Amino acid sequence: MSDDDLLQVDDLGRSFGGFVALKGITANFGRNRVTAIIGPNGAGKSTFFNILSGALKPSTGSMRFRGNDLSKLQQHRFVHLGIARSYQITSIFPQLTAHENVRIGAQAFVSRYNIWTPRASYHDVSERAEQALADVGLGGARNRIAATLAHGEQRALEIAIALVADPKLMLLDEPTAGMGPEETRAMVALIERLAADRTILLVEHKMKMVLGLCDRILVLHHGRLIADGTPAAIQNDANVRSVYLGQSLGYA
Ligand code: ADP
Ligand code: MG
Repeated sequence: MSDDDLLQVDDLGRSFGGFVALKGITANFGRNRVTAIIGPNGAGKSTFFNILSGALKPSTGSMRFRGNDLSKLQQHRFVHLGIARSYQITSIFPQLTAHENVRIGAQAFVSRYNIWTPRASYHDVSERAEQALADVGLGGARNRIAATLAHGEQRALEIAIALVADPKLMLLDEPTAGMGPEETRAMVALIERLAADRTILLVEHKMKMVLGLCDRILVLHHGRLIADGTPAAIQNDANVRSVYLGQSLGYA
């Protein structure tokens, strides 16, 4: 397999009733790279992620991940194949500790996939959770109640929950939403660490961050892919400029 065919998306589209939310998306994604999906509100970014994570079936087109046809698979199979997603809205159990949150995710993963060892030891699961917490820099916060973690730590916790499935592709929907500069820097550093041996796709509005972190940017507008290239190429793209004309692009 070449570097360019971790994920192959061909003519992907999705309609809701008569409304076309996504149309004709064709792109290949390689290994261990960071790609941003940008575009104005309603451009189809979350719809794209929903399809790539199996939460939504495409109306048209196909996608292959590590050679597997994803089109007809159920959502839990996406996780099993190595695709993980974090959500725009935080999705943790606030009254449980950081470690308990990750352990529940690990337990769900292990019990679903190791069907011949339903008792897959508590120890294994706990270890896996421990490692994921350490990977996102929350090793020292394992016993803290999730609700008491700072916003940035909660987002890191969500990523730890996703990590227990050992994903090869991570879909991060606005990982720095609601973060100030310091938390944003910490999240960027975490994403860079994750990208060392994973492929990352992220939806992100903070352009300065996108330009610094990503090696490729896809621009969606009204459900269409209007540009796909390096940060430098995207910044100079006439179509992209006209879409964002008069908007700040969130240079924060
Ligand atoms: P983005 O994440 O880029 O802001 P979305 O993918 O959430 O955009 O939405 C793209 C368009 O599709 C929007 O116009 C939205 O209203 C519409 N849409 C998304 N999900 C649904 C749905 N489940 N039913 C109907 N319309 C939807
Ligand atoms: Mg969205």
